[in-house]
Amino acid sequence: MLSDVSFDAAEEDAVLSVIRSGWLSMGPRTAEFEGKLAAYTGAGHALATSNCTTALHLAMLAAGVGPGDEVIVPSLSFVATANAVLYVGATPVFAEIESLDRPLISPREVEARITPRTKAIVVMHYGGFACQMDAILGLGPPVIEDAAHAIGSNYRGRACGTLGILGCYSFFANKNLAAGEGGAIVTNDDRLFDDLRLRRSHGMTTLSWDRFKGHAFTYDVVDLGFNFRMPELTAAVAIAQLAKLEANNRKREIAARAYLEMLPRELEIPFGREPEPGARHLMPVLLPAAVDRSAFMARLREQRVQSSIHYAPIHQFSHYRKLAADVSLPVTEEYARRVVTLPLHPKRSTEDVAQICAAVRTALD
Ligand SMILES: *Cc1c(COP(=O)(O)O)cnc(C)c1O
Repeated sequence: MLSDVSFDAAEEDAVLSVIRSGWLSMGPRTAEFEGKLAAYTGAGHALATSNCTTALHLAMLAAGVGPGDEVIVPSLSFVATANAVLYVGATPVFAEIESLDRPLISPREVEARITPRTKAIVVMHYGGFACQMDAILGLGPPVIEDAAHAIGSNYRGRACGTLGILGCYSFFANKNLAAGEGGAIVTNDDRLFDDLRLRRSHGMTTLSWDRFKGHAFTYDVVDLGFNFRMPELTAAVAIAQLAKLEANNRKREIAARAYLEMLPRELEIPFGREPEPGARHLMPVLLPAAVDRSAFMARLREQRVQSSIHYAPIHQFSHYRKLAADVSLPVTEEYARRVVTLPLHPKRSTEDVAQICAAVRTALD
């Protein structure tokens, strides 16, 4: 399998204790998870959300992005990165990656797309590898991090997600910290945090939990908000997974090193000469240009090896072509044509990786 969860009695007990407590909607577990996530990342504040897509949506609103604004985003990402810009009525401007070896948004390509309307830049730390943050932060516009791949990765000693004004994590079932669904935003800015907290729950000034505890009896609605809250069952699983994150990230790293040693030499391996990033999320390889990727993936599947593609470029999806048909990003497009992602998760042993590499060899011949 491409991805798998690593659950045991810790997650089972966590869920059971929520059910026995009788309190299911956002409350003490969510607050505990937020405290632990802030401590783990070193962020001033952490806010748990229903998923990373809603976190990105809230981040756009908190950053004041709206109609008429442009936001520079990578095209080599999951579609939610750009959808968040559309949700608030702004225009995503797609920027090119650095190279086939470093498929991260390029500071030079971002700079070339800055206009007076540029309200923010979104970076995405592909596979867990940090973008060139010093250069990108130096360009001027505020930076929002889509850190869905990068919980546990660092850039010059600081956690990915805490480098820009706002950072968003995903706890979807296949992410390094897996809670099924779920997300979070971190920030060091008190004012942004207050805005996020209000909008996460309908723009209301108090939560049901506060009213239940007798801290409040009524509320006002001071702005347009949403229901983007994290449920307690999710928060309980997320707390258990956060406790294992470092160990699981080390296991991913070991599997990745085994891949780097054993994969056939005719494959190009993005980031292949770089140190492991701390939270490796993906194991991408680039096929030689002449290899038929669908046939290669089918031959892997015949050998019971699941593979995937990260990603089809966002600017080439039908919906995005309707909005702007003339976007051309040759390096992103070539990367997306040749990339295949191989299975990577904490339960992959070195022997599993050896078997997959043998299957890759067979599929290439
Ligand atoms: C998974 C992912 C998201 C969306 O996360 P959800 O929690 O599923 O909403 C956004 N961006 C990237 C880069 C992702 O990998």
